[in-house]
Amino acid sequence: MANITNEFMGHDMLAPFTAGWQSDMEPLVIEKSKGSYVYDINGKKYLDTLSGLWCATLGGSETRLVEAANKQLNTLPFYHSFWNRTTKPSLDLAKELLNMFTANKMAKVFFTNSGSEANDTQVKLVWYYNNALGRPQKKKIIARAKAYHGSTYISGLPPMHQKFDLPPPFVLHTECPHYWAYHLPGETEEEFSTRLANNLESLILNEGPETVAAFIAEPVLGAAGVILPPATYFDKVQAILRKHDILFIADEVVCGFGRLGTMFGSDKYNIKPDLVSVAKALSSGYMPIAAVLVSQKISSVILSESNKIGAFCHGFTYSGHPVACAVALEALKIYKERNITEVVNKISQKFQEGLKAFADSPIIGEIRGTGLALSTEFVDNKSPNDPFPYEWAVGTYFGAQCAKYGMLVSSTGDHVNMAPPFTLSLEELDELIRIYGKALKDTEKRVE
Ligand code: PLP
Repeated sequence: MANITNEFMGHDMLAPFTAGWQSDMEPLVIEKSKGSYVYDINGKKYLDTLSGLWCATLGGSETRLVEAANKQLNTLPFYHSFWNRTTKPSLDLAKELLNMFTANKMAKVFFTNSGSEANDTQVKLVWYYNNALGRPQKKKIIARAKAYHGSTYISGLPPMHQKFDLPPPFVLHTECPHYWAYHLPGETEEEFSTRLANNLESLILNEGPETVAAFIAEPVLGAAGVILPPATYFDKVQAILRKHDILFIADEVVCGFGRLGTMFGSDKYNIKPDLVSVAKALSSGYMPIAAVLVSQKISSVILSESNKIGAFCHGFTYSGHPVACAVALEALKIYKERNITEVVNKISQKFQEGLKAFADSPIIGEIRGTGLALSTEFVDNKSPNDPFPYEWAVGTYFGAQCAKYGMLVSSTGDHVNMAPPFTLSLEELDELIRIYGKALKDTEKRVE
């Protein structure tokens, strides 16, 4: 157990997304979980409204996942998937994923350990594909501003670029499709989508379509603050991509496996991707595992090219780790048995309505969401152009008040995200709404 004392002098971790001043403060150390709750080392209980990091969809104590891990650990704790050797759980999981993803037929599955690795793999697949087709110039990847696609190259978040020499020159960014924040006076959602699609096309034409390989997008931007696509956005974007022979990579790391009330975000928005990244809920967060789903158009080129030049040399020691695959297989089985999209749809209406009822608060600009994902944006004068001074840390204060009352949310700047586990009961949902209301009142008082 971590040795946390009253004389806390900092800890030994260089922790992800943590500033120096934060790591000099006593961390919140979580020790155990049960259902929709986590407990810290002092025994305090918190409703975990972010499912860990958008992943623990089946809550913190799903014994079937633990048993699946145990069984696999006792049979074959590790074997790899290099050189056409593999394990049964990885083969079974690949098959199951191909069956489950129906928005566009996929042909092959490549396993990674994290969403970031999945998206890096996407880049390499796309490059290999275009090299194989004799189009060595077609290499650029377009992401959207504010998009989070992992901690490596593609994200559209300035804090992830500063001091890291990023983004690399092959990554371009187009606009974030956030209607509330960026629409022009009098512009409808559809007109906004048309403007963004036209700007995307201008970017492609300026760069030269022969240099642009792929566009990557989450169906709903998650970490960026649950930003829903404006009406007709994906129809228009996909038409442009098709016109210029540019691949669509759907990043389903957050949206996949029921979060939006459909099995995948691509189902909800009629997206027909060429490549798909999944992670997080794939194992309900119980084991680190992610996957790339590859359409026939791409996999056939990759397989035939590697027949000519030798192996497709990309992969990780733990690609298709048998224990992670066994747990993921069990998670997918549970999603099916429990009809998980129905479970989400049953509670999401009350979740969305209950929280959106606070939208009149003078310090809230927008509360937006769908399914079991929701974000609150704190601004002054209810205007996207009037952020609160950074040093007021309004979102952080709101998050701290929630924690005080026994609920964990994620607050990044002045937007606060919630994506609760699918185990959330109606009573727990009442508690969530009640604590949100109390923390909001406290925050309003502080800002007054
Ligand atoms: N893509 C999206 C949409 C994400 O939200 C995340 C993580 O939050 C990632 C990719 C990266 O996944 P990981 O943290 O497993 O590398």
